[in-house]
Amino acid sequence: MDDVPACLGGLCVECGACGRGAIFWGQSGEAKMPTPDAARRLRCSACGAKRPVLYRAISEAEAKRWYIDR
Ligand SMILES: [Zn+2]
Repeated sequence: MDDVPACLGGLCVECGACGRGAIFWGQSGEAKMPTPDAARRLRCSACGAKRPVLYRAISEAEAKRWYIDR
C-alpha cells in the first residue's frame, strides 16, 4: 500500500474525449481507489467515455491549480 492518506488531496480526473474535469476528494470512494483501478472504473458523466486521464493531487491547493491550468 503506497496510497496517499485518505484525508489528503484528491483524485483529479479529466475526460480524454470531451475534456470535462472533475476532482474526487480524499473522503470519497473514488479517491480511495488505487489509481489504476480508478482509471478502469471511472466513466465521464458528460459523454460516457472510459479511461479518463488521472492525476493524483497531494493537496487541495494542488488540485485547484490542476483544475485551473488544465
Ligand atoms: Zn467526456
